[in-house]
Parts: sequence; structure tokens; C-alpha cells
Amino acid sequence: MKFRFPILIIDEDFRSENTSGLGIRALAEAMEQEGAEVIGSTSYVDLSQYAQQQSRASAFILSIDDEEFSGSDEEPAIANLRDFIQEIRFKNNDIPIFLYGETRTSSHIPNDILRELHGFIHMFEDTPEFVARHILREARAYTDGLAPPFFRALLEYASDGSYSWHCPGHSGGVAFLKSPVGQMFHQFFGENMLRADVCNAVEELGQLLDHTGPIAASERNAARIFNADHCFFVTNGTSTSNKIVWHSCVAADDIVVVDRNCHKSILHAIIMTGAIPVFLTPTRNNLGLIGPIPLSEFTPESIQRKIDANPFAREAQQRHPERKPRILTITQSTYDGIVYNVEKLKGLLDGKIDTLHFDEAWLPHATFHSFYRNMHAIGQDQPLCDESIIFATHSTHKLLAGISQASQILVKDSKGKKLDRHIFNEAYLMHTSTSPQYAIIASCDVAAAMMEPPGGTALVEESILEAINFRRAMRKVDAEWGDDWWFEVWGPDEIAEDGIGEQKDWVLGSSDNWHGFGNVAEGFNMLDPIKATVVTPGLNVAGQFAESGIPASIVTRYLAEHGVIVEKTGLYSFFIMFTIGITKGRWNTLVSALQQFKDDYDKNLPIWKIQPEFAQAFPIYESVGLRDLSQRVHDAYRQSDIARVTTDMYLSPMEPAMKPSEAYAKMSHGEIDRVEIDQLEGRSTAVLLTPYPPGIPLLIPGERFNRTIVEYLKFAKMFNGTFPGFDTDIHGLVDEVIDGNRRCYVDCVRE
Ligand SMILES: *Cc1c(COP(=O)(O)O)cnc(C)c1O
Repeated sequence: MKFRFPILIIDEDFRSENTSGLGIRALAEAMEQEGAEVIGSTSYVDLSQYAQQQSRASAFILSIDDEEFSGSDEEPAIANLRDFIQEIRFKNNDIPIFLYGETRTSSHIPNDILRELHGFIHMFEDTPEFVARHILREARAYTDGLAPPFFRALLEYASDGSYSWHCPGHSGGVAFLKSPVGQMFHQFFGENMLRADVCNAVEELGQLLDHTGPIAASERNAARIFNADHCFFVTNGTSTSNKIVWHSCVAADDIVVVDRNCHKSILHAIIMTGAIPVFLTPTRNNLGLIGPIPLSEFTPESIQRKIDANPFAREAQQRHPERKPRILTITQSTYDGIVYNVEKLKGLLDGKIDTLHFDEAWLPHATFHSFYRNMHAIGQDQPLCDESIIFATHSTHKLLAGISQASQILVKDSKGKKLDRHIFNEAYLMHTSTSPQYAIIASCDVAAAMMEPPGGTALVEESILEAINFRRAMRKVDAEWGDDWWFEVWGPDEIAEDGIGEQKDWVLGSSDNWHGFGNVAEGFNMLDPIKATVVTPGLNVAGQFAESGIPASIVTRYLAEHGVIVEKTGLYSFFIMFTIGITKGRWNTLVSALQQFKDDYDKNLPIWKIQPEFAQAFPIYESVGLRDLSQRVHDAYRQSDIARVTTDMYLSPMEPAMKPSEAYAKMSHGEIDRVEIDQLEGRSTAVLLTPYPPGIPLLIPGERFNRTIVEYLKFAKMFNGTFPGFDTDIHGLVDEVIDGNRRCYVDCVRE
């Protein structure tokens, strides 16, 4: 397999007819003779931009006779060179850097620079051919060392051209070539993707299911990079990682302590294991954003009170008073970007709960930057627990460079207890396909290797910086509009003037008003700046509706039709993320699209003109103006006081009528009734009920409908009838028309 990693030469004489130009071009030709690609540049223009090339080059060759580095004064020359090399080394410790000169020698260069070099070339002392071979040897050693273990083995396998008799049946893509539509598929995805799509009969690649060979070496490599004792790659998303963690340590009738606003995979794990959950309730602000679970909820006394209040948990504890709660699972980084100080939680719960599990689907980057110190589950310098084992589950594909479904489970042993890998692997096998997708495994491997410091740290720093720059840009636009309305980005009032500032800028203070979560414990939570919630006008953080307003769904629909797709839409807020794939172009496009929105809104332009696709899909809005439409939806929200209703329903007390697994079993047996909204109060749901937004399960199987929830469902039914295209989607609520009759029901257990 041939990869493209050119050698970069920077010399102002590269195109000159003087001796220096002849010399450097002779070297370039000699390298090309050896088959290397060489790119010559005559100027640094922007040093830091040039240093960015570190990701696609195999070596740098810098002339130190250049103007940039000389001049009458020696010092600025050296300073320039140092800046440039530091800029490269900030991201890349290994790429070879050579200096060369005619008049100067290495004695002109201070040690701190020499230390970073792979050689100093005296141009006319050796032949160009000799120097070329020397450079190319270093460059090749560098690129040969790049691929981590599994990816390396896969590359070798895919390029060795052996015939396979094993599955997959497409035989390295050949099957596709036998049909026209197959040809299209083959041409689109390319030969390599299909050649690398192999099965676990290929021994030399190792086995994911029993963690052997190159796959095991990759998992060990990732464990080292993420500072964990164990790492397991998972090819079916963190949804599966979470179930694996749970099945490895939770059994029927175990008491488990769970974030009420957890991902649905955790609720599925509760159903599958037959556990008895007690829930920790996060705060919510009036914008509908999910805040932290208060520190006081985590105390052993508070957890005991919850057990006492739950008849099933109480009974389980009476039967087995010696058993502790088996697991705590919290969403580490809520969907709105709030994270917890893990050291404080360890201090409270070590030894009180057997396993502490942090669902870090949105936080795999945190361990690579001191900005997040102590605000993530597993990291360098974080002390071990005495008794509890720590798990973190990461969606590699959400914020790092993994392809969809790439996920990993990290484990940190405690002083007293080590993970039993055999027991753990039984759960792993239960949830893992016997035909895992090798491209996903390779992306787990590569995503980890990319994050190895210093490269990974630089990438995280870059995304934090872009996120904060976006916030600065939004503030600048706001300031320029003066009293006229504009969109705000939810976050601290003060942010650093430049650079990324410090962690403490983002820590939630008890007396801060901006977050709206009230009196939070000092130092317990921070907002991850790379998660940005844009707030639209109409509702303030105190929960008051303004006369006029712009519900977020109006804005995000508009944005979608202008090529900007956001991550999540709330009532008066929407959410975007600054992953390591962020570019300046992306967020600048958003800022300008929002300005366009404002312009069209102020002019009240008709929908047919600004959103033709939407108008075609929903002709009832065709001639409505953008401002009028916003106002109509806003009025509907305001009249129903919907912000209060959604907050109340998530905070309302939930009464379990039976264990979630029992309720689910009733459904498997068909012992359910389809209950219309009007009849729901007091009935127990058999299904997960999940409103979008915010996409957080509201009721879990076995829990009873209370009045607040029924009130919300009535609103949703009315709203969806009035505003098609802006539907509040509620998974679990079936809204269907049969023989002209509209029915809205939920499957409830027959009691
Ligand atoms: C997305 C998500 C998951 C599931 O991850 P997938 O990789 O999509 O399966 C689990 N937990 C949380 C908190 C998530 O946001």
C-alpha cells in the first residue's frame, strides 16, 4: 500500500538560479529519483499554517540561510526558527526535521533547537544522493511507525492479495462487480473498504471476542493512551458498551443507582438484568436544559432514603442486607454539556457502591487536556479508589475520529479489587456480534492513536479554542446589534479575552445566575465549552415568556434548509458541538446563517421564498411570513406554559408499580392495553416514553402516569394537530389514524 506523505522543503532559494538554489534542487531531485514526493516552498508565509502540514508530511527540511532566519541580528532569526519548531512539536513529537545551511553550522544553533532535529545537513559536503537516502530513511522510519497494531495488521492483510474462502460472501468486493448496482456500490465505497472487510477466520488479525493478537495489542495501546487499566473496543456503539458493563456486574433484584436522565441503553440494561433502580434526579433550568444532579443526592444517606421509599428496593434490601448497591451510572457530560467532579464522587461513594460507571459517550476527549482535570472518570494522576472499580464508556464516534458505532469501555481497577476479565468477557460475548466489522475496530485503534499526546492534547485544545472563538464571535455580533435582539450562547458571563482561559472560568458557581440551576455545590460541576447551546428569543432563564418569540425549531428548520444541521433542538435553544473535526468555516457559516435568519425574520419574508422545500412539504405555511410563523408557534407554547410543563414533568415524582423487567415481561406476553391519553392517569406504562426534545426517557416500564405527564401529552397532541412539520415527537406514544379516526395511545400493562 502506498501512502502519500511528501517531504517538505522550505528554502527561499528553492527556485533561484544561485548555488544555493541549485544545491537544494539537486537534493530534491535525488529524493524524487528514490521515489519520494517532494514539495518545495520558498517562503514560510505564515509559520503556523506551515506547521499544520505536519499531519500530511513525512519530513521537513528547513534552510537556515534564509532571510527569515538571518538578518543582521542573530536573535530574531533563532527565535523564528524556535517558534516554528515548537509549533510542529506542539502537535507532533516524531516527524523528522532537518536543518541545512551553507554558511552556518550547527554551532550557530542553540541546544534546545538541536535537540528537536533529526540532522544538520552541510549541503556540499556529501553528494545529494547520499543526503537524500539519509533523509528518506528517517522519513520512512517515521511513517512506518505511524500505524497502531490492528490497523497495521489490517493494511498488511488487505494488500497481500490472498484468495479467501471465508465469509463475508462478497469476497473482498468481487460479488459487487457482478451487477450494475453492485458496481455503483463498489465504486462509491472503493476497493479498500471491501478488501478490508474480512471475518474473524483471519487468524493473523487476532480475535475481538477473546481479545488476542493485534486486536488485543490495540486494546492495550488504547488503554495506555487513555490512562486506563483495561480497554475493550465495542463495535455496536456505547448503547452496547453500557449493556456489557451492566451485564458484567448486575443481576436480577440488585439495587442500582441511576441518573434519571440517563441514555435509554441504561434503561434497557435495567430491563434486561432485572435490576431495581433508584434514581438520582438532575436539576433543570427553565430553558429546559438539564443541569447537574445535586451533590446532596449522592450521599449514602440520601441514597438510603431513596431505597426506603421504593417498595421493591426496600424489600430487596431486607432480603439481602449485606449487599450494597451494585452500580452507579451517571451521564458524564449531560446532553447540554454539564460534567461532574469525579474525585468528589469517588470520595463520597468509594466502597459504598461496588461499581462506579460514568457514561462518557460525549466526553472521550477530556483525559487529554488539563482543562478538564478531575472532571472525567479516568485519567493520569487521578488516585485509585480503595474498593470500587471505575468504568467509563466512550462513543469514540461522537467526538473523536471514530466511524459510526465505534465505542470503547475503559476500566480502572481499585486498590482492593481488580477487574475479573473472564467474568467481564462473558458479558462482552453476550452483546457482541460474532462477525464484528473490522473497519470499526480499525477506527477505534486509529482514533486512540491520534489522541496520543502531544497530538491529542493539541486537537482538544484546538476544539476548545474554536468553541470559545465562536462564543466571542456571537458576543461581538450581539454587541453590534445593540438593543435589537440576537441569539445568545448559554454559558458564563465572563470568558477569557483570548486563548482558552482556564477550567475555573467554566465551573458552575453557587451564586452565578447564568446557569439557572440554583445553588449548586462549589467546584462540583463545569460546563464543557465545546458543547454550545444557542438560546433563541422568547423565554428567559427565569422561565418568563416574552411577548414575542422565536421557538428554536423554526430556526433549526431554517438552518437545515441553508445547509446547517444542528445536533439537537429544544424549545428555545439548540445545541451544537465542537468536535475535533471542527473547522472555522463550519462555525462561521453558522454565524452568518443566523444573521441571514435575522434579516429574513425582520423582513417577515414568506416561507415559500426562504424555505421552498419546507413550503412544498407543508403548503399550509407557504405564504406565512417567517416572523408570523414564529409568533404563532410561540403563542401556542406560551398559552400552554409549555416550558414549565416540561420541566415539571421531568421533576415530578415517579411511582413504580412494578419492576421494569416485570412490566416488560407483560408486554412480551401481550398482557397490555392500548390506553388513550384521556384514560392514562394512574396506569403503568409497558414501554419507554421518550419525548423529543429533549430525547430523555420520561417514564420507564412499570411506572405510573401522573397528571403532569398527561397534561403534557394532551398539549403534544393538540400541538401536533395544529403545527404539522414541527411535531413534538414522543416515542412510545402512538398517534395514528385508522378508518378516519385519530387515536393517540400508550401501551400500558394490564393490571
Ligand atoms: C449516544 C449516547 C449513548 C449511546 O451511544 P451510541 O454510540 O450511539 O450507541 C450512550 N449514552 C449517552 C449519554 C449517549 O449520549
